[in-house]
Amino acid sequence: MPTIQLNPENFHDVEVGGKRYAMAVKDTSIFELDEASSALLDHLKSERIVTSESLFRAMEAKYSREQIQEILEGLTELQIITQDPGKEIPLKKKVEIKSTPLTTIVLNVSNKCNMGCHYCYGEGFEDLKTGKQMEWEVAKQSVDFLFENSGSNKKLTVVFFGGEALLNFKLIKQVVPYAKDLAKKMGKWVDFTVTTNATVLNKEMIHFLKEHRFGVTVSIDGPKEIHDQRRVFKGGQGTYDVIIPKVKELLSTYRTRPIGARVTLTRGVTQVRRIFDHLMELGFYEVGFSPVTSGSNQSFALTVVDLAEIYAGFRELAQIFLEKALKDEYLGFSNLSQIIMDFYNGTNKFLPCGAGIGLLDIDHKGDVYLCHRFPSTPGSEVHSYGNVQKGVDFMGLRMFLSEAHIDNKADCSKCWIRHLCAGGCYHEAFTRYGDALHPNLHYCDILRSWQEIGLRVYLEIMEKNPGFITKYLEPRRANYETL
Ligand code: SF4
Ligand code: SF4
Repeated sequence: MPTIQLNPENFHDVEVGGKRYAMAVKDTSIFELDEASSALLDHLKSERIVTSESLFRAMEAKYSREQIQEILEGLTELQIITQDPGKEIPLKKKVEIKSTPLTTIVLNVSNKCNMGCHYCYGEGFEDLKTGKQMEWEVAKQSVDFLFENSGSNKKLTVVFFGGEALLNFKLIKQVVPYAKDLAKKMGKWVDFTVTTNATVLNKEMIHFLKEHRFGVTVSIDGPKEIHDQRRVFKGGQGTYDVIIPKVKELLSTYRTRPIGARVTLTRGVTQVRRIFDHLMELGFYEVGFSPVTSGSNQSFALTVVDLAEIYAGFRELAQIFLEKALKDEYLGFSNLSQIIMDFYNGTNKFLPCGAGIGLLDIDHKGDVYLCHRFPSTPGSEVHSYGNVQKGVDFMGLRMFLSEAHIDNKADCSKCWIRHLCAGGCYHEAFTRYGDALHPNLHYCDILRSWQEIGLRVYLEIMEKNPGFITKYLEPRRANYETL
């Protein structure tokens, strides 16, 4: 007798504003459940596996067979149910990533940093005397490497990173015109972004960044007493008083693109709302929070209690974000904007991020890594894939990416956000588990709750002010997103 089985791992349902919605994991499509679909899903939730005849009988008092059949077909298509499970056992195909055209390179132009942030992942960042700078020849070949390996991608990005990237401003001034010329010759377009601690920022730099429409992100942790706890110079003095006049000048004169603040949340630094309010008062367009959950600097890694406090702060900001969005105003809380856009675009990740599949990092020697976090992490040579001058191991890179495919992460196979998270950051996995391919299983519940909050906010905005997304969030993509 034909049977029907519910696949709970393949959908997630929520109630928002008196309506019920389901998200299909297969393609991150979200749809409203009408009364009949809702009743059918509830019946299957209580039984898990039923015969089609018993299902028709249970529903026939209110719904016709045709109606039920139509719903079943839709749910089967989305893999939310399986009809006649066991009849066909599909063979799992081995995933193979064959092509990795580039869109972005991150240039570690300076291995020097004048700061000594306590939580810095860059354990190899050296001081101003001993630190290495990238030389022109390496930078030039890196830009050539980006263009040569960009395939049909038209829009390319060069990210300047450090240590402190602006300590090698001289090189940045050489790279930009060179990359622009190359883009013109090859019929492509190149964009630039920089992340800076703002300590050496000056008028000349601001002028240059403006002239070339840089996307700028400033690393800053909030008000003085919070920022100075961990963002200090090598000698231990806090950096807040040094950077604030520079940040104010940047924010008041740079009108080319919106400027974002990146906050690192570490053990005991969990005051999300207070930090956010301070940075918005300073004039940042957006604030993005990066919780430190990796294991490289255990004493600063967040505890479960810290994480719970942080996500309580995120929930509070999400509520304000929603209230403002319904009044057609934008709150620059980038962690949430990103999630909303993932739902809006039907993001369906099979890898956690762009590292290796569009984005590569190049250190001062020209060595190629998965992303900007790897070169300065002890032991991460295993994730170096050659050198722009001596040759890049694309084969090895593709093998790594094929292994990293979400379908190969058994621990994630039942998770409803597996096509949004895809197992999480490789670097975090590498420092916590010693294996970049290991899923980041240490905060999945919090991550799922956070995604659900994002889903609810998204649905409410779509119901009550859908124009908000096209007005504020779509343009943000082109203007703001960096790494
Ligand atoms: S790491 Fe955790 S949250 Fe991410 S997909 Fe895997 S199980 Fe889900
Ligand atoms: S998510 Fe992790 S692995 Fe990916 S780019 Fe960011 S730091 Fe690198």
